[in-house]
Amino acid sequence: MTAVIIDGKEIASKKKVEIAQEVQKLKELGITPGLAVVLVGNNHASRTYVTNKEKTCRDLGMYSVLIELPEEASQEELLSKIKELNENPAIHGILVQLPLPKHIDEIRVIESISPLKDVDGFHPINIGRMMTGQDAFLPCTPYGIMVLLEEMGISVAGKHVVVVGRSNIVGKPVGQLFLNQHATVTYCHSRTKDLQFHTSQADIIVAAVGIANFIKADHVKEGAVVIDVGINRNEAGKLCGDVAFDEVSEKAGYITPVPKGVGPMTITMLMYNTLKSAKNTLRF
Ligand code: NDP
Repeated sequence: MTAVIIDGKEIASKKKVEIAQEVQKLKELGITPGLAVVLVGNNHASRTYVTNKEKTCRDLGMYSVLIELPEEASQEELLSKIKELNENPAIHGILVQLPLPKHIDEIRVIESISPLKDVDGFHPINIGRMMTGQDAFLPCTPYGIMVLLEEMGISVAGKHVVVVGRSNIVGKPVGQLFLNQHATVTYCHSRTKDLQFHTSQADIIVAAVGIANFIKADHVKEGAVVIDVGINRNEAGKLCGDVAFDEVSEKAGYITPVPKGVGPMTITMLMYNTLKSAKNTLRF
């Protein structure tokens, strides 16, 4: 079998057109969705992510503001900046780019963002609401994965999903979203004994490990759906995922490539969440 490639770039483009149309409608009502991105320090990768987020915001007709603080900024300075943004009615979404410098307590910072503007979906209130199946800002990468499957017409209810990785930003929440949609979910991680035993039973595998070419054809059941979240560089310095694409795509039913798979969906769902937050203001 040769897998169908799930074209994340194309699906993201389609979603962005829909978001831009909704943004225009809101603007006609006098509301411009606004996203504030806070960058502390000068991490090269973080700067690239932040620039992409700002550009996408503008492309979709939203307002975006970048707040830059130096590497040595204190936690108090950052918290006071977030407080200002929480109170600013032109800002509907606040994103603090992670990782933060070591001297800043990441959890404290995430908890200081108003849950009503937490478009990353990392605040414990939004995580709790997601877990209990209430309306919430869903974390962007997991949410993007669910949208990819929906757009491909791949059903989830009753499927066995094996998530490899249990981080707070990808592994744990994506498993929860699958559970919310009635899948049977197995989590694997670095302490899992016999990973292959679990993954080879999966109807859907989500690989969120951060190790290049970690999931091989032997890990995968014939015809399975393989979602590759990883963003790694191989020995040659080339961008690659957690899945050995060439061999796995010979066996899987569907597969996401890296790049142009899950990645473009993450930023798209951030835009979606910012739009949703702006729309929410109409309700209050
Ligand atoms: P983390 O490093 O936070 O988590 C990695 C997870 O993989 C951990 O739960 C770890 O287990 C598990 N793991 C590590 N080694 C093994 C192993 N040998 N066997 C089984 N499990 C293992 O990473 P993230 O979740 O933040 O990111 C994962 C990947 O996804 C990275 O490549 C990252 O760059 C990428 N990413 C991509 C995004 C996108 O938009 N496409 C967005 C976010 C991340 P344990 O908990 O036991 O340590």
